[in-house]
Amino acid sequence: MDYYGSQVTKLIEELSKLPGVGAKSAQRLAFHIINMPPEQVQGLADAMVKARNGVKYCKECFTLTDSDLCPICSSDKRNHKVIMVVENTRDLAAYEKTGKYEGVYHVLHGAISPMLGIGPGDIKLKELMQRLQGDVEEVIIATNSSLEGETTAMYISKLIKPTGIKVTRIASGVPVGGDLEYIDEVTLLRALEGRTEL
Ligand code: ZN
Repeated sequence: MDYYGSQVTKLIEELSKLPGVGAKSAQRLAFHIINMPPEQVQGLADAMVKARNGVKYCKECFTLTDSDLCPICSSDKRNHKVIMVVENTRDLAAYEKTGKYEGVYHVLHGAISPMLGIGPGDIKLKELMQRLQGDVEEVIIATNSSLEGETTAMYISKLIKPTGIKVTRIASGVPVGGDLEYIDEVTLLRALEGRTEL
């Protein structure tokens, strides 16, 4: 049933496609939006389109950024010889929030999952191996402690071992299956400091 007229219904439909937005929230957001001043709605729409079109991957670490190199990769205050491997940009943000990690990152954009048909070629693994041709002392594997995260960690460590570069894994204590972004900073720091060599 189309209670609201097709344009409002369309807006509700589009909003309910967003993650975590159910039918009720979509309705609430839609009514909020149609009551906003037109210029604010325009600002919101512009910000979404600009962010989507302007975003690209850092050519070094593959995090999302709007220039060739992200602020972390282009900083000379960071230790470029230590690379922390994370599954996604949100995990990178979680570690950055601790303010204590001084190395750089590598964002895989996923994890190996035979069940979902995601293989090593589907994540930014080749790109990581290319970075290791340079001057790298340690690779810290900070993939999630889910089955996929552990599988990915094992796979990467086997690939890197022959190069002689030190490979470490963040300590458990990060809840199994837990997404890194939901874990508090103290736990993250503890996991980082308690990392063990693979
Ligand atoms: Zn970068």
